[in-house]
Amino acid sequence: QAPVIAIDGPTASGKGTVAHRVADALGWHVLDSGALYRIVALIVQESGTDPEDKGTVAAIAASMEVRFSAGAVLMGERDISADIRQESVGNLASRIAAYPLLREALLQRQRAFRRSPGLVADGRDMGTVVFPDAPLKIFLEASVQARAERRCKQLMEKGISVNLESLAEDMRLRDERDRMRSVAPLAAAPDARVVDSSTLTIEETVAAVLDLWSG
Ligand code: C5P
Repeated sequence: QAPVIAIDGPTASGKGTVAHRVADALGWHVLDSGALYRIVALIVQESGTDPEDKGTVAAIAASMEVRFSAGAVLMGERDISADIRQESVGNLASRIAAYPLLREALLQRQRAFRRSPGLVADGRDMGTVVFPDAPLKIFLEASVQARAERRCKQLMEKGISVNLESLAEDMRLRDERDRMRSVAPLAAAPDARVVDSSTLTIEETVAAVLDLWSG
């Protein structure tokens, strides 16, 4: 089995960026598991599917044809990379992510990313459910304030202006939903190493993860 570095943590803790940079440094593959939940949410939203219809939502996950190619997310020929990043899609993703049937439908798809020479996987349950045998598990934390400020900055760079307070409130709600759900709740695996990135730069966080990997 190829090794896996599992990186879990709350919304906007920097997991995605850190996972990509660690994967680049090691020459490994990367799995953005949140993108899978977001893709399902986008399809639900665009098709007018009732988000409460758990069976249909899981069926969408089982049958969707998506690919990750050169940093882009493709559904058939359509590039949906930007569409799945909308806040509305993220919020819907976090609602449907509580459905056991949906999580089950995405399990094998996620495990299929594990290939030689290794995989860096980021999400909420990489270390607890999807890759419980990962030799390195990181739980990446950051204060709500630090995370809201980062997300705000990212959005402003894209020309989207947002209210910091409402962003922080959305984040708290989403974290709470992820932590309180009955299946695969957001939590550090017992054998995870906790890294708090509140006062670290991306470079420092990446270096901390690489240090833990090289022991
Ligand atoms: O990480 P990201 O914000 O893109 O994920 C979107 C939503 O998908 C999260 O709020 C979370 O509820 C859900 N998710 C999950 N398990 C994962 C990854 C994401 O439940 N492994």
